[in-house]
Order: sequence, then structure tokens, then C-alpha cells
Amino acid sequence: MNKTIINKNFDKINLDWPLIQSELKIKLGKEVYESWIKKINLFEEFNNYVLLAVPTRFIRDWITSRYLDQILQTIKKHKKEIIRIEFKIVANKDDQFQKSNNQNKINNIENVSFIKDSHLQYNRIDPNKRFENFQIGSSNKVAFEASLKVSENISHYNPLYIYGGVGLGKTHLLNSIGYEMNKNQKVMFISAERFMYQFVKSIKSNDMVRFKEFFRNTDVLLIDDIQFMNGKEAMQEEFFHTFNALLDKGSQIIVSADRPPNKLSRIQERIKSRFSGGLVIDIQKPEYDLRKKILNHKINELTNLYSDKINISEEIQDFVSNKITSNVRELVGAINRIISFSRIYNKLPSLSETKIILKDLLNLNENNVTIDTIQTIVCKFFKISKNEMLSSRRSRYLVRPRQTAIYLTKILTTKSLPEIGREFSNRDHTTIIHSVKTIEKLKEKNPDMNENISKLKNIILYNKENEI
Ligand code: ADP
Ligand code: MG
Repeated sequence: MNKTIINKNFDKINLDWPLIQSELKIKLGKEVYESWIKKINLFEEFNNYVLLAVPTRFIRDWITSRYLDQILQTIKKHKKEIIRIEFKIVANKDDQFQKSNNQNKINNIENVSFIKDSHLQYNRIDPNKRFENFQIGSSNKVAFEASLKVSENISHYNPLYIYGGVGLGKTHLLNSIGYEMNKNQKVMFISAERFMYQFVKSIKSNDMVRFKEFFRNTDVLLIDDIQFMNGKEAMQEEFFHTFNALLDKGSQIIVSADRPPNKLSRIQERIKSRFSGGLVIDIQKPEYDLRKKILNHKINELTNLYSDKINISEEIQDFVSNKITSNVRELVGAINRIISFSRIYNKLPSLSETKIILKDLLNLNENNVTIDTIQTIVCKFFKISKNEMLSSRRSRYLVRPRQTAIYLTKILTTKSLPEIGREFSNRDHTTIIHSVKTIEKLKEKNPDMNENISKLKNIILYNKENEI
């Protein structure tokens, strides 16, 4: 934040704050309104964020941890560009609207609590990650069920410890629990990294009492990625006490990590043993059926979002669910990329285009699809020998298969034209271009040709040589 920004945007308030407050009153109820919402003032409005003034840090923290999403949503209804909220502590209410006094404002600016490095980073419960849109398969069923039970307060799993590799849905599950329980309990959802950061910050600003209060006051504590809380003795000490205090008063604790408790490094034994004392469950890599289910679901979700049907072919869906096997995040990322492509180019990508878009995710190295594999499969398919394919004979029954193999090499590998030429008995690169173009034209005109090419691609990509 600097002076220019402040001055430039000075006095440009268009939002009707009292109206927003009254909408929040309806949404959150009179009590919440009286205790919290009423105390917030719109201090300043920027292009894509607003600066709200509150009288104390406590109020700021409370509002941030409980009502921020709804406030943001309501503001967005009036000005959709607003993407975040920042707070300023204005102790003296009379100060609040002294906007004519620029100097005063600039002097005060250090009090602004930037969301980037403070409270917005935690308790950001994402309304898009709920139990309803978590797809279940054998690899994550147990974790899902335990999470659901915890959120319904019908389990005695405390703490619940969920672990698994990256991108398998741990944060999604924790978020779902937070989302459900936040409806009628005090929920604190924080990553271990953020917890540490807050801790250190509180020590520096001599604010430990508030830190303790803040965390020990909660009914539900969700800590994501606990493996990051390693070393840092003083903090572990505090965490351990918070943890015990919460368990003692019957609060629910849910923890996620990338490994089981006993494998956590540089974390006190007694903390590990408390983790192990609850229910420990893992999420495995998604199996094929689950991957397909997630893809389908994601496509439907996006179709609803864009209100036009997205017809990603079975072939491409199969391809993606066959190739992206270890990580749901990448699977979702792949679909997003395919859809962005189709929106940019106004058509769905072909299989070979899909391969290019997803190259880094697919890890399709040359070992997977080699020129040799392509030649072998094409020869087998057209019932010719490899010698015949590589010869210089121009009989029609050899030319088409040869051109087909060249075409497939061009689209399925990253080989350059001269490289391909060399692999096909030192043919010139212009011959290679000619072959590719010929097949492209034939594909358009001739459905049989098109069909053959598709079959061959399938066989090559999925190693289905024995199906010929
Ligand atoms: P982790 O925390 O284990 O690294 P995330 O919870 O962040 O993984 O999941 C990565 C992405 O995949 C998120 O967008 C999440 O919504 C999605 N995701 C993971 N598992 C599922 C599932 N079973 N169903 C639907 N989406 C999922
Ligand atoms: Mg995560």
C-alpha cells in the first residue's frame, strides 16, 4: 500500500454500505447484526477490494473468522469486481469518517491489517468444497464417512487424522467438515503453516493472550497439513496445550497430513501419540472408476456454470482418466485446461491436441510412444512387414500404411520432421510433410480412413497391440 494508491482512490465510494448492512442483517440475523455488522464501516472502496473499519482487533478477528464470506458475497452482489476485504482498526469512532484529513489517514495506514498476511488466509472455508461434491470411491470412502460422521457430531473420533498424498482431497474433506459445522458451531480452519505464522506474529506483538483465546475458544479446530509444523519447539508447546485444552472441553479436532502420525518428522512424540490416539485414516490414489466419476461430475459442474453443454468425447475422457492416475488435483486441472481450450478456440480439442495441452501432466515421454512402436503397430494393422514399410517401393498397399505411420509419428511424438524422415529410411522432410497432409485430407474425405486412424491412435496410446 502506498500513498498514491490511497490518494488516487480517495473519496470514490459508490457502494451503499447501509444497504449492504441491512442485507446482512436479513442474512445473518438481528443478533449478529447488532453485535458485529453494525460496528463495521466502509472506510474506503478500491477497484477490486474494500477497506472496512472496525473498532477493535477482536471484532476484526471475530468477523473475519465467521462472517467474512457472507460479507464478501453481499458486497459482490453490488459490485462484482470486489474480490477481497481488508480491515482497518479505527479505535475512535469519530475518526472514522474524517476523510478530508488525508494526512491523518496516511498516518493511520499502518494499522490496516492486510488480509494477505493475516486473517483472511485462515478460516477461508470454501463454499465450493462440500460433502455433496466430493466423489466417493474405494480409495477415499472411509475418510469420507469418518468426516461426515464427525461433522454430524455422532462420532467419538477425536482427533480425526486424515492423511494421504498431495491432491487427493484432504483439504476438500476438512473444508466440508468446516462448512457443515460452521452452521451452528465456532469453527477454526487453519493450515499448520498459518498457525505457526500467527503464533510467531503474536509473540512479536506481545499478543499471546489473544492468540490463546482465539484458538481455545473454538468448538471445532481443523488443522490442514500438519506435517509443516515441524521443529519450532515453542510453538509445538503452545500447540500441544491448545490441543489438550480443546480436547478437555470437548471440542472436535481434525487434522490432515501427507503421512501417518508416526512418520511426522521433528514433531514431539507426545503430539504424535495424541494424534494416534484418535482415528487415523488414509486416502489412497483414486482408482479408475473414481477418476471417471470425478471427470464426469466436473464436466457437469462446468456445463452448469457456462450453461452450454460441453461434449468432451468418450475417447478424451477415457484418455484423461487412463493417463492421469495419481492425483485428483491434476485430473481436475486437466479438465479445466480442455475446457479453456474449447472456449478459446470454439471447438473441443482432438485427442492429439489434448495431448499437447496436457503434456506436462501426462508425462508422455518418448518412451511411451516410440517410432518403433508406431511402425510395428501400423504394420500389424495393415498386415505388411516392417521391411516393406521402410522400403522405397511405391505400391499403393504400402504407400498408405507408410503415410499413416508417418502421420501418427508426427501427431503422437515430439519428433521433428527431419528426425521422422531419418526413421523412415532417410526420407526427405518434404516427403514427411506430404505424407502428413495427404492423411489429413483423406481423413476428412474418407470416414473409413478416419476410423482407422482413431483405432490406431487408441491402440498405440493404450498399448493395445494384442487387440489387432
Ligand atoms: P489435498 O489437500 O489432499 O492436497 P485437495 O483437497 O486440495 O487435495 O484436492 C485437490 C483438488 O481435487 C480440489 O480441487 C478438490 O476439490 C478436488 N478433489 C479431490 N478429491 C475429490 C473428490 N473425491 N471428488 C471431487 N473433487 C475432489
Ligand atoms: Mg491440501
